Amino acid sequence: MTSRTSPSHEPTFRESVDIMFKRAVPLAGLSEGLAEKIRVCNSTYTVRFGVRLRGTIHTFTGYRSVHSEHMEPVKGGIRYATNVHQDEVEALAALMTYKCALVEAPFGGSKGGLRIDPDEWEEHELEQITRRFTYELAKRSLISPSQNVPAPDMGTGEREMAWIADQYRRMNTTDINASACVTGKPAHAGGIKGRTEATGRGVQYALREFFRHPEDVATTGLSGDLDGKRIIVQGLGNVGYHAAKFLSEEDGAVIQGIIERDGGIWNADGLDVDDVRRWIGEHRGVAGYPEATHVADGASLLTEECDILIPAALEGVINLGNAHHIKAPLIIEAANGPVTSGANDILRERGVVIIPDMYANAGGVTVSYFEWVKNLSHIRFGRMQRRAEEARQNLIVSELERLDAYLGDHWSMTPHFKQKYLQGSDELELVRSGLDDTMRTAYQAMREVWHGRDDLDDLRTAAYLVAIERIAMSYRAKGL
Ligand code: NAD
Repeated sequence: MTSRTSPSHEPTFRESVDIMFKRAVPLAGLSEGLAEKIRVCNSTYTVRFGVRLRGTIHTFTGYRSVHSEHMEPVKGGIRYATNVHQDEVEALAALMTYKCALVEAPFGGSKGGLRIDPDEWEEHELEQITRRFTYELAKRSLISPSQNVPAPDMGTGEREMAWIADQYRRMNTTDINASACVTGKPAHAGGIKGRTEATGRGVQYALREFFRHPEDVATTGLSGDLDGKRIIVQGLGNVGYHAAKFLSEEDGAVIQGIIERDGGIWNADGLDVDDVRRWIGEHRGVAGYPEATHVADGASLLTEECDILIPAALEGVINLGNAHHIKAPLIIEAANGPVTSGANDILRERGVVIIPDMYANAGGVTVSYFEWVKNLSHIRFGRMQRRAEEARQNLIVSELERLDAYLGDHWSMTPHFKQKYLQGSDELELVRSGLDDTMRTAYQAMREVWHGRDDLDDLRTAAYLVAIERIAMSYRAKGL
């Protein structure tokens, strides 16, 4: 289902990203030279290293690609999967450059990958492999708080990030900023509250922002808000799980379909996302889940009737083979590159609205940015101002209480107002507020271009245009 197994005339993931980039370039009015400088991937480092495990030496292949260093450090996740390859890592690194520019995270783009099936190894073995991979990258400054800061991606999470941070620290014992060498760490190991959920939370905030604009919603033929919207999600991993959970629990959306590696499950009345996640944890797949119908060909659910389709697993899943059959009027790309450039053209012509990956899944890098800032400032957000904020609010509440007593039955404070108002913002609240603000601001920048120009008609080209113009400005400021 990846770009490699797509029909032969389907471009690779890397080519798809380039095609979409090149569509926006003429609209930005850049010189050919500058456009080419922005497009190309600066470098890709391939490393092969051996680790002695189970009595023999196993050789692993890893990559770290740096797409653009117009801002440093460069930033991007590390993926663990058997099919990781150079083309994929370079495409993902390019998307990181554009994504960071779009959400104004001050980083260049990078991405890494290790060819491995994490399920094949015990935890202590994975730790050994991760530490060795970290060593190989860190000694070339491909992991460094000031030059290259990885984060989780498919197949990796908090655990791997904690190992990376610890390994880097052991190699750089006098670096006071060592914990800023990687983001997505657990809260107890220098992480930030809300990072694990951040990408899925960002998908929710992106959809909320989209549905705040009735004229945008109208382009899909839908109306109203997220309440009752029928959703199909592919991939119930970190991103898909959190997006589906928040959208169903907090916005009233109905998760009718979930697609996983071993097929898809369907329930028109809605699936309990936490329950499905528990089932997957226990049974290593969705098959047999009692509250739904199972289909062995999970990908067939992508073309089922629904309001919103959320591909949140891997790239190239919506391609020339199925784009004509997609029925959802709105796709939000929670995964990176789930729609190939060929499919993108077909869907655009058919009027399907796509909220593009570089915006839709930018919640992860946004909160990673906050974590990096927290690590460099060596203080948790809210620590200085929270109680001062509470004390000031207390003054207002005391005055309101006096008024309450004075007005008797004519007026009283709303229940829980006092408790809610007095509570100063803790780190999680601040992170969510910063993420929400980022997702709203970036959407508005995109939609201004989407509606404001008559030479483009889709959000993806608008997103590229915003990103390219910002990167070009940064290059120009450097004298290029
Ligand atoms: P993950 O490993 O936590 O989850 C991926 C899920 O997809 C797993 O549940 C897996 O079983 C499922 N899956 C794999 N192959 C599948 C297939 N063929 N069909 C259906 N399901 C399949 O990964 P993640 O971190 O949630 O990342 C998912 C996507 O989101 C990737 O494209 C990644 O690049 C992107 N992304 C992740 C983050 C992040 O913060 N983790 C940030 C931005 C973008």
